Amino acid sequence: MTYQGTNTRSSGSEILPVPITEERPWVVFSACRDKDANIFFPENRSQEKEALAICATCPVQYDCLEYAFEADIRFGIWGGMTEKQRRRLVRRGAGAIAS
Ligand code: SF4
Repeated sequence: MTYQGTNTRSSGSEILPVPITEERPWVVFSACRDKDANIFFPENRSQEKEALAICATCPVQYDCLEYAFEADIRFGIWGGMTEKQRRRLVRRGAGAIAS
């Protein structure tokens, strides 16, 4: 899975995206690095289960979840959690794990 970087950097007259590996160096170790990113934005329970199964084997799951909280990412599966699960955690005040 290759998410696009969200930050940009000016280079002369062009605005270039910051390379993903610079913003999130841990992605090179992710279990989803060669997977279709679409399954991490599931449209049904089957796709959600498939994505969560990949996350369950991921060595950088904590980094990914921390990033999702820090960047306030609202959509998709990050760090082995669905958006609904992350929202629930934030409501309980556990979003502070990212600090
Ligand atoms: S935890 Fe899941 S979404 Fe995050 S890098 Fe690992 S496999 Fe990808």
